[in-house]
Amino acid sequence: MATLEGAALIREFKRSQTRIGQEVAKSWQGIPRKDKHMVAAARRTAAKSSLKFVDDFSRLETGNTLTLDTVDELEQMLNAIVQDNIEDDVRSLGQSVKTALDGGREMTAAAIDRDRRVKAWQRVASPNACGFCALLASRGAVYKSRKSGSQLTSRSRSVRFGDAGVGASFHPSCRCVIVPSYSNDAYVDDMARDWLIMWKQSGGSLAKFRKMIAEERGTKVH
Ligand SMILES: [Zn+2]
Repeated sequence: MATLEGAALIREFKRSQTRIGQEVAKSWQGIPRKDKHMVAAARRTAAKSSLKFVDDFSRLETGNTLTLDTVDELEQMLNAIVQDNIEDDVRSLGQSVKTALDGGREMTAAAIDRDRRVKAWQRVASPNACGFCALLASRGAVYKSRKSGSQLTSRSRSVRFGDAGVGASFHPSCRCVIVPSYSNDAYVDDMARDWLIMWKQSGGSLAKFRKMIAEERGTKVH
């Protein structure tokens, strides 16, 4: 479990990433053509704020900052993310939001991958997330393994987070973030726990699970 301050920091981080996604979506309204500079700027902001988050979070949770070597590597990663050619990734509003927020996810994934103290990672979804994201968030702490680590991150654009493995699960317009955990019990919110209970009650049916969430929210759930 994250510390109280850590949990508050996660919530603040999630809100800030959501806001970046909302800004991208807002900028698309009324613009007949793609604006890759706006998306690139949002991607940079998402990545920078993620780097700050993992550093602050690690200090809160472990009492120590990231090692200098890790910070060096992450700063290189940040440069790579910022310099990525996103020409093909701004085709639609949903894709643009993904491209922006993937900057943050790639950054966080890189930190998780490089920090030996991290035991697990967790997906944090919005309260109004789709059924698919709610299901993934309900898994709570997902243990870090060498395999998941390599799936989580890459320095190269061609196999970047977002194209394969865990990354492929971030759909266009998805506002989910991933966060590290320094313990094995990583539930960061009651919402994810409630989703897990519903998932069990659904008997493993995504359709049923969606229906149950929809009933609780009083709106349709995708
Ligand atoms: Zn999502």
